Formats: sequence, structure tokens, C-alpha cells
Amino acid sequence: MESKNTKIITQSLLFTPGPTPTPEYIRYAMAQPTLHHRTSEFESVFANVREKLQTLLGMKEVLMIASSGTGAMEACVESFSSKKILTINSGKFGERFGQIGRAKGLEVIEIINEWDTPASVDMVQEQLEKHKDIECICMQICESAGGLSHPYKEIFEYVKSVNDNIIVIADGITAIGVQHVDTTNIDLLIGGSQKAFMLPPGLAFIGLSDRAINLIESNSKGYYFNLSKELKNQRKNTTAYTAATSIIIGLKGYFDMIQHFNMCIEDIYEYTALIANATKKSLESIGLHIYPKVSANSMSVVDSMYAKDIISVLKKQYSINIAGGQDRLKGKIFRINHMGYIPLHEISFVLNAIELSLDILNVRKFDSVANMVFFENLNCQALKKLGV
Ligand SMILES: *Cc1c(COP(=O)(O)O)cnc(C)c1O
Repeated sequence: MESKNTKIITQSLLFTPGPTPTPEYIRYAMAQPTLHHRTSEFESVFANVREKLQTLLGMKEVLMIASSGTGAMEACVESFSSKKILTINSGKFGERFGQIGRAKGLEVIEIINEWDTPASVDMVQEQLEKHKDIECICMQICESAGGLSHPYKEIFEYVKSVNDNIIVIADGITAIGVQHVDTTNIDLLIGGSQKAFMLPPGLAFIGLSDRAINLIESNSKGYYFNLSKELKNQRKNTTAYTAATSIIIGLKGYFDMIQHFNMCIEDIYEYTALIANATKKSLESIGLHIYPKVSANSMSVVDSMYAKDIISVLKKQYSINIAGGQDRLKGKIFRINHMGYIPLHEISFVLNAIELSLDILNVRKFDSVANMVFFENLNCQALKKLGV
């Protein structure tokens, strides 16, 4: 029996910057019979994924936690600060670090920007000079509220040059699996399952530097998010509490899939960069404006007085789900996902639908420029090399 509703759900194209669609290969991996988490079969999956995550993150250790990404953000703030933290609020997720800090009774020094504006070394310098007792700096690599990219390398390098003891907490939830992340000056690197890994929500992970490992080993703090207890367990390929077994099996499916298609993660970085760039050029070619001052590759974000109408036409006429803005950006922007591994024909269909929606809304006559510019800006040689 097929109701009208399920038809819409199965046929619509999910183009939101998280959750992203789960490919068939991974869905199939997760459809295997349930494994108990305290079995050698599951432990071997856990060991496999642990090692692959360590390599992907470029960090010595990694912890997997059954929670959404925000849980990992809370775990890091809770474990590594007792008094005062510095947070960068250039959007909803940066704002969240501040909210977590206040909820924990910490003093929060917050750098507040417009949501299209990344942080700078100067802004951080000003605060570090005023506040010598900052314990942690918390910042996104990509702030998903407005799709912007922070100059994280420069900022973290500066922070460590001022005071090596300041713990750098980087939210890489929309950066890991999208781009290479330089972890030289990062102590905690946070990731989540439902973005570039194309998995269902519910698994978060945290990459750890040597310094973070030492601090965790010598300081057991918290209960569910007790990283010390987790580290002890996860080094033995098990977890303190019931692991997110199906998603971890799906994560193994993600790594297997890349191998199965004879790719490496760098190919995905390159492919994502190519489509992100071509998409932005295409959107601009039909008179749309890219919102952030420095764009991330994980998504394209447009600010437009027609944002709400475009989202609605895409949904109703073309069964495409793109994302709008949250809070102060509600009704003002739309966001298109590039995370995961998006087929060219899908993004091309979405761009065509956006151009058509401008015609439907009497904003601009359709002349198929969006797709022309999209394909013009894809580097065919690079795509060929990637086997696309
Ligand atoms: C999605 C996202 C998160 C995590 O949100 P959850 O809903 O808790 O998974 C955190 N930071 C950024 C930048 C994100 O895009």
C-alpha cells in the first residue's frame, strides 16, 4: 500500500546541508541483522572504523559517542573548561558553544559577528589580550548557519603562539569529509554522522590531540559524556554505554564505499570543491547573491528577498528539499548542500529548478543559463581524472 505521503517522501530530493541523503551502498550495510555491541563481531567493526577515522581526521585518537553533534560540543566544553571560554558567534552553531558554556556556569567571552562574517586573528587577539585566563577557544571550521568558512588555521595558530595551554575546540561537523582539515593546532575536532558521512543522525565523534589525550587521562569528568571513561573503553574497541551500532556499521559502509568505487577521500574533497565552485557561479549567473563573505565548500547559501518563495516552488513543483535560514536569517536565505557525494545530474536538476522558479515568480525569464554556467565551470579534466 502506498499512501500519497510516502510517495512524496521517497521521491523528493533531499538537498539540505544535513541530514544528507544516505546512498544505497550504506543503507544496504546498515540493513544487516543487528549486532550486539559486546561481541567480537561488533568490536572488529569498531576497531576498523576507529582506525579509519583516526587517519581521516589526522589525529592520534578518536572517540565515538551516541549523540547528535551538539552532544560532542557539550562533552568537549564540559571536559576542558571550568571557568572561562572564548567562543566565536558568526551563526547559530557558534552561538551554541556560548549557550553550552553558560548552561555549565562558565564565563563566556563571545565574539559576535554578522552571520555572513568570519572571525579574524585581530578579533581573537583583542579578546586574548583582555582575558589572560581563557581556557578554551571554541569555533566552527564551517559555520552552517550562513555557510561561511572561518580562517581556522590562522586563528588556531595564533592562539597556540600566544598560549599553548589554551585548548582549541574545533567544530568540524560540516568540514570533515568535505575538505582537508589541518589539525596541527587543534586539540579536539568534532564530527557528526549526518553531514558529509551521509549517515542517519545519532553518531558524533571527537578527534583528540596528544595534549587532549593527556588531559583526559588525568581528569575524569562528567557522567554520560565522561571522555576519560570512553577513552579507556574505546581503546579496547568497546564503549562505556551501548554504542550506536547501526550507524557505526554504516560508517564502515562509508569507508568501504569509497574503496569500492576506487576513490580516496582526497577525490571527494576535490569533487566537492568543483561542484561547490560551479554551483556558486551558476547561482550568480541568474542574478542571485552568495550570502557569506567567505564561502565554505559544504554548501551554497544565497540571500534573496525571494528565498522563501524559491524554497516553496522547489518543494511543491519539483519535490526538492533545500534548507532555509534559522532565527534572524529565517525567510532571508536558502542553503543547498554539497556534502557527501552528490551526483552531477542531481545538482544540475536543482539549479535548473531554481532558475525555473525565478521565472515562475516573475523575477527573471528562463534561458537555461544556470546549467550552462554550471557545466562551463566544472573542470572537465579534473572530473575525468576523478572518474566522473
Ligand atoms: C549540524 C551541525 C552541528 C550539530 O548539530 P546536531 O543537530 O546536534 O547534530 C554542529 N555544528 C555545525 C556547524 C553543524 O552544521
